Amino acid sequence: MVTYRFEASDIPAIVLSDGQVMPKLGFGAYKVDGGDAVGTLVSALELGYRSIDTAAFYGNEEEVGRAIHDSGLPRDEVFVTTKLWNADHGYDATMRAFDASLKRLGLDRLDLFLIHWPVPAADRYVDTFRAMQALKRQGRVVSIGVSNFTRAHLERVIGETGEVPAINQVELHPYYAQSELRAFHAAHGIVTEAWSPLGRGAEFNDSVIIALADKLGRTPAQVILRWHMQLGNVAIPKSGDPKRMAENLAIFDFELTGREMTQIAGIDKGARQGADPDLFDMDAPA
Ligand code: NAD
Repeated sequence: MVTYRFEASDIPAIVLSDGQVMPKLGFGAYKVDGGDAVGTLVSALELGYRSIDTAAFYGNEEEVGRAIHDSGLPRDEVFVTTKLWNADHGYDATMRAFDASLKRLGLDRLDLFLIHWPVPAADRYVDTFRAMQALKRQGRVVSIGVSNFTRAHLERVIGETGEVPAINQVELHPYYAQSELRAFHAAHGIVTEAWSPLGRGAEFNDSVIIALADKLGRTPAQVILRWHMQLGNVAIPKSGDPKRMAENLAIFDFELTGREMTQIAGIDKGARQGADPDLFDMDAPA
């Protein structure tokens, strides 16, 4: 078992069902591209992030690999996640896509491999997950999981493969708090990882969030990220601005009370921003 060494970091870790530890707060790398992608990623590592969330679809796996190399950090101090794109569903295609991702990252082992979207229309996600099981047995990836899976997709994968995905990475922020899915995850030992944890800013002007931020002397982003931590989520906020990156890390020296957590629970509107996982099929195989 490869154990991520987080001693040097202030970020708490969570233990996945397979025993691997993972930082509870990571850096989301979607749209970290263009001229200074490597510089942005190196800044994130220098500021203290020890987990990077990328995907084949983001087109920046090479930059992620280069940034880890340039940061000078030992490989086992950085937790790396990438994802299998929709076009690569199916057993053989998954094996090929994994090789290509690992090569672009310049790594010989991945910490977490996720199915980016279930693409039910292609009906291949069970075979895709079986390929991930093989990669895990081979020791090329430590943990395997899924993203954008509903309860029904999870039940099918678990039922047909006998393995529970370590993580489900889903859209989750105060206006879309996913309490039913979180309860299902908790009952099955699946870690909930929140994408768009800040709702891309949608809740920064919410009166409840603003009142709590004013009371606590924090920013709305910090209040929201702290809420994620106390719910038990892993969160992967994205920012290209080092000041905001640092702000998003500075959430481990205050706590929300039970009442404050309930207040935030009260603003959930069930308001999804992203695609519906039952329907999203961009680039899906025919
Ligand atoms: P996010 O909720 O992290 O919000 C990012 C936006 O908030 C950016 O515009 C950024 O400038 C702004 N921001 C960040 N910190 C701020 C701060 N402290 N103050 C003010 N503004 C701030 O949304 P996201 O980028 O969509 O999601 C984060 C990560 O989740 C992505 O980078 C990616 O890694 C992952 N993701 C995964 C999926 C999936 O399908 N699995 C989908 C979307 C995103």
